[in-house]
Amino acid sequence: MSVITYIGLGSNLGDSQQILTEAVHKLALLGAVKVSKLYQSPPMGPQDQPNYLNAAVQLETDLEPLALLDELQRFEQESGRVRLRRWGERTLDLDLLIYGQQQIQNERLTVPHMGIMERDFVLIPLLDLDADLQLHGQQIKKLSILQQPSLSVLNAGNWANI
Ligand code: ATP
Ligand code: MG
Ligand code: MG
Repeated sequence: MSVITYIGLGSNLGDSQQILTEAVHKLALLGAVKVSKLYQSPPMGPQDQPNYLNAAVQLETDLEPLALLDELQRFEQESGRVRLRRWGERTLDLDLLIYGQQQIQNERLTVPHMGIMERDFVLIPLLDLDADLQLHGQQIKKLSILQQPSLSVLNAGNWANI
């Protein structure tokens, strides 16, 4: 049975738009996808790193959560991701934000993803995909953090060519 999931995408090393485009195409092999606008946002954590490109993808897939995480981590590795420091620069970050209605807590996965409610660069792309999306029983669009967004739209069109 397929489940509606949401994946957060980020990149601030290499040709980020190309890397995110490739990531979307790989995700599309796992099920039907819908893609948010493409955003540029200031870094979270260490400030001495480039701005990020961010987006979100809605993926309808048959994969179980851990099997999906395996695929996401494989795509990160294929982009040449190297762990330098916490919240540091990376070619590709793919976070499993939402998996249907499930709440998951184990040593590899916390779903809904941890930082989600405090991160405008995650919430705003999610609203592109579903303007009425709810998280932890709250309407995302009503969250006060969205009143002063720190990110900007880089491409509102079909940037991933999908
Ligand atoms: P953050 O998770 O705060 O956005 P990050 O994305 O930089 O930070 P990573 O280095 O990409 O963190 O991942 C660290 C670990 O997080 C992974 O090994 C993975 O097992 C774990 N993890 C827990 N929950 C999730 C999730 N929902 N999506 C992706 N990884 C997760
Ligand atoms: Mg992350
Ligand atoms: Mg991550």
